[in-house]
Amino acid sequence: IPLKNYRNFIIVAHVDHGKSTLSDRLLEITGVVDPEAPNKQVLDKLDVERERGITVKAQTVSMIYHYKGEDYLFHLVDSPGHVDFRLEVSRSYASCQGALLLVDASEGVKAQTVANFYLAYSMDLKLIPVINKVDLDTADVPRTEEQIESMFELSRNDIIHVSAKSGLNVKYLLPKIIENIPPPLHCRPDEPFRAQIVDSWYDSYLGVIMLINVADGSVKKGSKIVSFKTRQKYEVKEVGIMYPDRTPLPHLVAGQVAYIIPGIKDPNTVFVGDTLYEAGTSVEPLEGFEEPKPMVFVGAFPAQGTDFKKMEERLEHLFLNDRSVTLQHATSSALGQGWRLGFLGSLHASIFKERLEKEYGESLIITSPTVPYKVHYKDGREVTVSNPDDFPDSLKKTTISYFSEPYVDAFMSFPKEYVGKVMQLCTANRGEQEEIQYMSNDQVLMTYSIPTSQLIDDFFGKLKGITKGYASLDYEDAGYKPSDVYKLEILVNGESIDALSTVMHKSQIEKNSKEFVKRLKEFLRIQQFEVAIQAQANGKIVARETIRARRKDVLAKLHASDESRRKKLLVRQKEGKKLLRSIGKVKIPPQAYQSFLKAR
Ligand code: GDP
Ligand code: MG
Repeated sequence: IPLKNYRNFIIVAHVDHGKSTLSDRLLEITGVVDPEAPNKQVLDKLDVERERGITVKAQTVSMIYHYKGEDYLFHLVDSPGHVDFRLEVSRSYASCQGALLLVDASEGVKAQTVANFYLAYSMDLKLIPVINKVDLDTADVPRTEEQIESMFELSRNDIIHVSAKSGLNVKYLLPKIIENIPPPLHCRPDEPFRAQIVDSWYDSYLGVIMLINVADGSVKKGSKIVSFKTRQKYEVKEVGIMYPDRTPLPHLVAGQVAYIIPGIKDPNTVFVGDTLYEAGTSVEPLEGFEEPKPMVFVGAFPAQGTDFKKMEERLEHLFLNDRSVTLQHATSSALGQGWRLGFLGSLHASIFKERLEKEYGESLIITSPTVPYKVHYKDGREVTVSNPDDFPDSLKKTTISYFSEPYVDAFMSFPKEYVGKVMQLCTANRGEQEEIQYMSNDQVLMTYSIPTSQLIDDFFGKLKGITKGYASLDYEDAGYKPSDVYKLEILVNGESIDALSTVMHKSQIEKNSKEFVKRLKEFLRIQQFEVAIQAQANGKIVARETIRARRKDVLAKLHASDESRRKKLLVRQKEGKKLLRSIGKVKIPPQAYQSFLKAR
C-alpha cells in the first residue's frame, strides 16, 4: 500500500459520546474484528479504564479498507479523553493528520469536546464533524449542528450523522476520511530509518514493546537501530501492526504507526518522544515531546509494620507500566522514610490514590495532594517547590521577591439554571471568569481561570454536587500567576510536624488552621501531659488547641491481688509505647496522622 493511501487519525469526543462504540463499528466494517465476537471495545484495555470509562494509555489499531479500486491503510490512534493525560494526548495527536470530532446528538458540545478541539486545532489536524446517537428520542440534531457550526466554525454541510450503536451511516465515514484527511506526505520512504517513540509498555515475556511513528525509511526484524537520547543500540526482534492485537509484519515503512520489539527488559531506558534511527547513519532527532511534568504531588509513607524495601518494590511494579508517575525518596521526621509521588493531574492522582488504597490500604500513609509552587528570588532565581515542607517561611523573605502558583483554564458545561451556584463556587475557589456562552439547549459553557490547587481539592466533586451531577469539567494548563501563598505548619508542643505542612492562599489560612488543629486534637486525645497544638503561617501562630494532661494509669482499676493480669497489662503498655513516634516529648501514634490525613 503506497504512502499516499495511508490515513492516520484519532477520534475526539467528550466521555460517553460514543468513541469506543464507533471504533468498534469501524473495526467491524473493515473486517478487523468479527461483529459476533463478544470481546468488544478493543481499545479500552486496562481495568481501571473500563471502571472509569477513560482510556489511560494511548492505543492504536490498524485497518485496511478497499475504496475505488485501491487499498487504504488506516491507523486509528486512541488517546485518553481527559486532558490530565495531555502529554499522551498530544503525542497521539502528533502522530495523526486528522480527527473525527464526535458529538452526542442529545447532549451537544461539552467541556471535553471543547478542550480537545482546541488541542487538535492547535496541532493543525483536519477535523471531520460527526454527530452520534441520532437514533435516540432525545436527539436534537439541528441544535447540535448549530453548536458545532458556531463554536468550531465547521460547516454544517460537512457534518455526518451516525448511530454508532446501530451502525447507521458509519460506512460513510471511511470514504470521508480518505477524501478529507491528508496522508502523512511529510514522511520519506527512501531515507534511512527514523521514527519517534509514541508510547511503550511492558510485557513479562517479550520485555519492552514500543509504539512508534515511522517518519523515514523502513525497519524490520534484525535491523540495528539506535536511540538518540541514550545512544543505546538495539537489534529489532519483531515489527508489526496492531490488528487489533499484535500482528507481525515483514517490515514497517514510513507513515505507519506501529509496534516494534527491541528485545530489552529494562523499561527505564525507553523514553517516549525519543528518536530511533538506523545504526551507522547520522540524523537529526525528530521534534521531541516534553518530559511529563507532574502537576500534583503526594507523600507516601509505610505505615506501622510495613517493610520499606518490600513496599518500594510493589510501588515500582505498579508504576512500571505508567511512566507518567514519578517516584522519589523522601524523608519525614514524623513518618520516617518514604516516597514523593508526582502525577500529571488531579484525575491521574486520584486514580492512583484509589489503586494504592485498594491494594495497600492500611499499610501506606498518603499525605494531602499539593501542586508545585514557584519561589521567585530578588536575584532572579526561580525555584519550584513540590514538597510543602520545603516551602520557605517568612524568615527568608528578605531575599524573596514573590511566590507564584499554577493555574488552569477550566471549561465547565451544565444546565443554565445552575449558573449562579457555579459562579459562587468558582469565586469561592479564587476563580476568575473568562467566558460564558449560553447554548441553545439550555446548557451553559463557562470558562474560568482557577488555581490548580483549588482544582485538586475536589473541585469536580463540589461542582457535581451543586449541579446534581449534571456538570462536566475539563481544563487546560494556563501557566503560573503571582500569588499570596504561605506555608501552614502544624506544631505540637512547639515542634513542626513536617508531614502535615501545607501551602495555601492567604485567604484560606484562618479557616483551615482552626480546622486542622481541632481535628488533630481529636486524634491525639490521650496524652500523659499537657500538649499544645498550634498552626503557624508566615511565622505567626494563627490557631491553637490544648490537650489537658491526663494520667493514664492502666493499673488504677485493678486489685493488687490480680498479679498475672497486672503483668500482662504492663507488658502491653510497654509495647504500645514502642509503637509511638515522638515529636518533642509527645508520643504520637502514626495512626493518628493516617486518620487525620484521611479525614481531610
Ligand atoms: P466513549 O466514552 O466515548 O468511549 O463512549 P462509549 O462508546 O463507551 O459509549 C457510551 C454509551 O453510549 C454506551 O452505553 C453506548 O452503548 C452508548 N452509545 C454509543 N453510541 C450510541 C448510539 O449511536 N446510540 C445510542 N443510543 N447509544 C450509543
Ligand atoms: Mg471509551
